[in-house]
Amino acid sequence: MPITTINPTTGEELRTEWEKLTADQVDAKLAKADEAFRAHRRTSFAERAEKMRAAADILSNEKERLGRMMATEMGKTLKSAIAEAEKCAWACRYYADRAEAYMADQPVETSARRSYIRYLPIGPVLAVMPWNFPFWQVFRFAAPALMAGNVGLLKHASNVPRCAMAIEEIFRRAGFAEGVFQTLLVGSDAVAGILDDPRVKAATLTGSTPAGSSVAERAGRNLKKTVLELGGSDPFIVLPSADLDAAAQTAAKARCINNGQSCIAAKRFIVHAGVYDAFARRFVAAMEAQTVGDPMRDETEVGPLAMEQTLKDAERQVRDSVAAGAKVLTGGERIDGPGFFYRPTILAEIPESAPAYREEVFAPVALLFRARDADEAIALANDSDFGLGSSVWTRDPAEARRFVDELEAGMTYVNAMVASDPRLPFGGVKQSGYGRELSRVGIHEFVNIKSVWMEDEGPDEHPAAE
Ligand code: NAP
Repeated sequence: MPITTINPTTGEELRTEWEKLTADQVDAKLAKADEAFRAHRRTSFAERAEKMRAAADILSNEKERLGRMMATEMGKTLKSAIAEAEKCAWACRYYADRAEAYMADQPVETSARRSYIRYLPIGPVLAVMPWNFPFWQVFRFAAPALMAGNVGLLKHASNVPRCAMAIEEIFRRAGFAEGVFQTLLVGSDAVAGILDDPRVKAATLTGSTPAGSSVAERAGRNLKKTVLELGGSDPFIVLPSADLDAAAQTAAKARCINNGQSCIAAKRFIVHAGVYDAFARRFVAAMEAQTVGDPMRDETEVGPLAMEQTLKDAERQVRDSVAAGAKVLTGGERIDGPGFFYRPTILAEIPESAPAYREEVFAPVALLFRARDADEAIALANDSDFGLGSSVWTRDPAEARRFVDELEAGMTYVNAMVASDPRLPFGGVKQSGYGRELSRVGIHEFVNIKSVWMEDEGPDEHPAAE
């Protein structure tokens, strides 16, 4: 039976031409990945870079078509989807330009005649990916992995099969050999068997904490390395010296980005008591000014939630939090009509017993907290199982440094919202996962870091791929 998904804007079915893979078809794809790796690891960096730049050109040239595909399958605004395709092109070019330098031998002084660190690819890597940034999440894994000489196997989220197949096609059209990047149209129930297969050498998962834990457990049983990019409930801290207008405008954008479904969206707004009322007024106005509607329209800032279940989860979290004592400052309900739309919402006075206090809310729902002083702001920010991003608003450099040191998060942005950038490592601590993507650090996650010790001089030049 062909795979069908739901367009979240209309609630209508989207038919595809593909069916889920059978176990034999998965096996054939793993065999192909294994075979492709043997040849791909021996290609030169220049050869890989040429293809990676061709992939970047396809993404840039066809961003409108690809953007429409993303917006149709998961509801993000067309303008943000087009920007996502461009950002993927940036990541491809970033690694095309730098992978050779990042993977170059590093000489180390020892008592050997000569010693150095060499980075070698490890083989097929499984990527289990989410739907929220259906291209970006995949490219930020694939660009460094393929440039390092590994090959990629993508198990994408079940609601974005068109995006999943389009990404495979981009790498094929860019000139990568068959098997270097393959999409596996399978459900999450097939992941354990793939992790058990000796041809698969490592795995990366971007998604929820339970999914990450399940993949890490299975991979651990097989002694395979994992990188986990999981959920977040990022704090956005506003201190008395902050520019309140800028902070409130950015707060609304940081909460509503990607229709409220970003791992690094600001979710908990922790405001110093001295500016709490002034900030809350501005923040309510900024959330109410968000234009909610058809993601294909240029003026839309917030489209629908990606799936009916995502909408139901948000409704439950808000309803139960209000029942526990939280106050609704604005929003607090779905928007009637077809599609999975939820009104931009702010909850305040949230007790610890409310689900929204601890759970990640994957919808445009902001949680507002009052802190007596900076100490309480830090304590509240760190009173979370997550530790992905964080943002602090202050014009006092010493105060900013204190927050950089004390916030339990993989990333701290000062007077700015958190955003990923190919030049900086991306990842979290605590239940937000481990390992890092992007930058020089990201390309070294899935390599064999080999120590080489030579009692004679050895050749001057080390061939890149042997
Ligand atoms: P999800 O339900 O965890 O799904 C993510 C991927 O994992 C999908 O491909 C899914 O497949 C698969 N999966 C789910 N359960 C699995 C299991 N038990 N074993 C193996 N695979 C499994 O997450 P989502 O709802 O798509 O995405 C939202 C979550 O991702 C949020 O928590 C968000 O914060 C997080 N996220 C984190 C980052 C980051 O960089 N840290 C970035 C984006 C999103 P199916 O679709 O087939 O179920």
